[in-house]
Amino acid sequence: MRNVNEKLIKSAVAESINTLISRAEKEYKKRPNLSRRYAKMAWALVKKHKVRLTSLQKTKFCKRCHEIWIPSESVSVSFDHKNNLFRLKCRCGYVRRAGSIKKPRAN
Ligand SMILES: [Zn+2]
Repeated sequence: MRNVNEKLIKSAVAESINTLISRAEKEYKKRPNLSRRYAKMAWALVKKHKVRLTSLQKTKFCKRCHEIWIPSESVSVSFDHKNNLFRLKCRCGYVRRAGSIKKPRAN
């Protein structure tokens, strides 16, 4: 029984995280403070319920300052040739690795 309830709660939490992030994105231009608040709430849910964010959701906001990441606006994206991956740098100084490009298989 407990397992079923946990699953239900986690799926409900995942859904509300989704809506919080999309709202935060929507409000970013008009009300940046509100947007940051939404992202903060989403991150609080992640920590409390130990749900996993999808790899796309992970690149949506900063987990340190809770700012929504919009490329070339609130986050700078650079490509690290040495390690073959992207680096997202937030204005607060937080750096996050993002999706690497798979190397073509050497035959
Ligand atoms: Zn940040």
